[in-house]
Amino acid sequence: APAGSARWFLGGRLNVSVNCLDQHVEKSPNRVALIWERDEPGTAVHVTYRELLDLTCRLANTLKKYGIQKGDRVAIYMSVSPLSVAAMLACARIGAVHTVVFAGFSAESLAGRIMDSGCKAVITYNQGVRGGRTTELKATVDEAVKSCPSIRHVFVAQRTDNKVQMGDRDISLEEEMTKADSFCTPESMDSEDMLFMLYTSGSTGKPKGIVHSQAGYLLYAAFTHKYVFDYQQGDVFGCVADIGWITGHSYVVYGPLCNGATSVLFESTPVYPDPGRYWEVVQRLKINQFYGAPTAIRLLLNYGEEWVKKYDRSSLKVLGSVGEPINTEAWQWFYQVVGEGRCALVDTWWQTETGGICIAPRPSEEKAEIIPAMAMRPFFGIVPVLMDENGEVIEGNDVSGALCIAQPWPGMARTIHGDHQRFIDSYFKAYPGYYFTGDGAYRSQKGYYQITGRMDDIINISGHRLGTAEIEDAMADHPDVPETAVVGYPHKIKGEGAFAFIVLKEQTPRVDHIKEELKTIVASKIAKYAVPDHILVLKRLPKTRSGKIMRRLLRKVVTEQSSTMGDVTTLDDPSVVKEIMDAYQKYKEKSS
Ligand code: AMP
Repeated sequence: APAGSARWFLGGRLNVSVNCLDQHVEKSPNRVALIWERDEPGTAVHVTYRELLDLTCRLANTLKKYGIQKGDRVAIYMSVSPLSVAAMLACARIGAVHTVVFAGFSAESLAGRIMDSGCKAVITYNQGVRGGRTTELKATVDEAVKSCPSIRHVFVAQRTDNKVQMGDRDISLEEEMTKADSFCTPESMDSEDMLFMLYTSGSTGKPKGIVHSQAGYLLYAAFTHKYVFDYQQGDVFGCVADIGWITGHSYVVYGPLCNGATSVLFESTPVYPDPGRYWEVVQRLKINQFYGAPTAIRLLLNYGEEWVKKYDRSSLKVLGSVGEPINTEAWQWFYQVVGEGRCALVDTWWQTETGGICIAPRPSEEKAEIIPAMAMRPFFGIVPVLMDENGEVIEGNDVSGALCIAQPWPGMARTIHGDHQRFIDSYFKAYPGYYFTGDGAYRSQKGYYQITGRMDDIINISGHRLGTAEIEDAMADHPDVPETAVVGYPHKIKGEGAFAFIVLKEQTPRVDHIKEELKTIVASKIAKYAVPDHILVLKRLPKTRSGKIMRRLLRKVVTEQSSTMGDVTTLDDPSVVKEIMDAYQKYKEKSS
């Protein structure tokens, strides 16, 4: 479709990049689309809609020149920047499917995702910059693609001036883009064609490639962006998430750009160069909506209010929280200290699979109450239900159950790449006819929803979802550690941390050494954030007579609820309980 003539839901005539770029370029080409808040303080870069369209088209033509076609998959392993946003939109422009891999993931994680999705190309930076330190993105890609025969080209952009080794399949992205045409006809897409896939953890060791569609996803991202945050034209929208997560996809890139907003790209950390960074940025960029993660708020509140109050936050209208439960203390601090008690604070519940926000306090009638630390109200079209153990819908209020959604919505995932059966099994089997979220929830007296946490073996570290099975699988590579079991435990800053129980092949004085090796293995097989905070050696794991590890019991131990251990009669040998509790007690005494 030529610029400006794109219409929703015209199957075969749709292109997401036209909705995000061309329609705005036609009306207001010089409106700022992106403000790139680079890691180096005070060096923000403004990019207009016209400039972003130009970047996108040049990048799209470069991809085409090297044989990327409609339907091909392209991995993006980049820190957040106008070029990484253009990379996503360039894929959309030519009908290729992007899979963004968070630039903190290891070479092995990247390789796994590239192979599962069958990517033809990777787009990366020579290096990444975060918190004043550089990371070797290109070197990680080199390591990853060694085991990826599907990769034909690696496009390398320059984030720093440092030279990196360039091989046969490597292409200098900027050089090619300068030569490329700045016009690229958008590919005609069907509303149900795949827009992107994004890998997320499930309860097995293998991450799943969640597939999102063109029209439904974009509609839902744009609609929720507008109504949950009360986005008004001219607002500067500041979502500080990385594009490697679904929050970055929906509320840094697709939602805001579809609505013609000015979207902030935050490359740094909340504490670089000091704990006032967020609020200094709010003041300097005059941010109107600030959307961030509870883990950062919990970290910052330890540094005190001065870091916030130093800066003018009068531009702020709405605050948002995402990715994990926000505790009341963090909520109050965010609301009272950051928002001066005058900004609406919305706790938004959703998932990679839901595409956009499903439960949040807004929209609602004017002046409707917002209860601290509660997601509260379903978004338009979302029908939440709670289920009991027998698979029956729980009616009434002041009740808890498994959170399901009773009817489809535009933004919902369409499948798991290459494994539709796993999609059905993961989300639609437990409660036939309903989408099962994997979360538990409480419906209050007044009918508001509060998320109570995961009901499966998925943990949430600093807002990043991780299957405990992934950590266990990684540690299984250690030759001296035949058995492991990982559970989540409450962590003051990260929300949850990983606690690993291990069994050694034989008694050895090398225990501390082995623990360090295990940590290195997890970092190199998954990512640094996945490394367990605690590793406790046991003589044996608690198992049922049929040999299943009883993680429920380990969870009780690390959350210090061993007085409510529940039914342990199915254990092969119930005396293991005391053994574990003693070991845990000793470990705690030793580490305090
Ligand atoms: P992800 O797909 O990585 O965004 O993770 C989604 C999971 O994060 C959900 O299933 C919840 O367990 C958790 N989560 C996300 N937002 C919230 C929230 N506002 N409150 C509580 N848990 C949340």
